[in-house]
Amino acid sequence: MGTVSMTGVCKVFGGTQGVRALDNVDVQLAEGEFMALLGPSGCGKSTLLNILAGFEGQSAGAISFDGKSVRRPGPDRGVVFQEAALLPWLNVWQNVIFGPQVQGVPRADYEPRAIEILRVVGLEAFHKSLPVQLSGGMRQRVGIARALVMQPKALLMDEPFGALDAQTRLSMQQLLLDVWQRFKTTVMFVTHDIDEAILLADRVCIMTARPGRIVRDIPITLPRPRSIDDLLSPDFVRFKAEIMAEMRGVH
Ligand code: ADP
Ligand code: MG
Repeated sequence: MGTVSMTGVCKVFGGTQGVRALDNVDVQLAEGEFMALLGPSGCGKSTLLNILAGFEGQSAGAISFDGKSVRRPGPDRGVVFQEAALLPWLNVWQNVIFGPQVQGVPRADYEPRAIEILRVVGLEAFHKSLPVQLSGGMRQRVGIARALVMQPKALLMDEPFGALDAQTRLSMQQLLLDVWQRFKTTVMFVTHDIDEAILLADRVCIMTARPGRIVRDIPITLPRPRSIDDLLSPDFVRFKAEIMAEMRGVH
């Protein structure tokens, strides 16, 4: 459950003379695996994530999720962007349960899970707050909760902490590690932050500048559970040196 297979994925925007964003990308993700996709701005990271989410079609190649060809978005793949587009007139609780409500899921089926998720993301005390009353980090917590309440098999996260200040970012990284430990979803996490990629992921895939290709796939063998204290460990710094060397060639 939650397995991803992408083979020979190409994407050209705007016809044959257009922008070639992805060139022959192959990625396989196992159930529950946490993959970070790292690369320079404009290399096609969001394009790849959007194709897996079903928001964009590929120009060539095959993409399947749990063995089924991806054609459109679905509740099996939860998506989290840099800014959580919350409904401003609904409070935190109403935003989190909006998806299952719209889908007609019986309340008894989603309510216990929604309560648990709010607790895991640390927002129980804020369930009646409106989005405008929340900090950026708290809004992203709601975005993560909203994705998780649909019981996705995978979370697709596109620079979810990119707009946050450094301290909030660290606490959100810790939160995501806890959430992932708890719910065991497969994760594709797009970032251009090397530390973030190493801290979170089982594997870091490095993409080249356009047209995007995956040039390295590095297993991050740091033990789990991890915490932000690991950012200073010698093993961490070794991974960072290896990735920085590769990225210098890529830019
Ligand atoms: P990243 O997320 O790595 O910064 P993107 O996937 O957003 O990169 O973009 C990859 C390339 O494709 C960029 O050159 C971008 O300008 C181009 N691109 C992305 N979306 C579109 C689109 N809808 N139409 C045309 N070009 C696009
Ligand atoms: Mg992007």
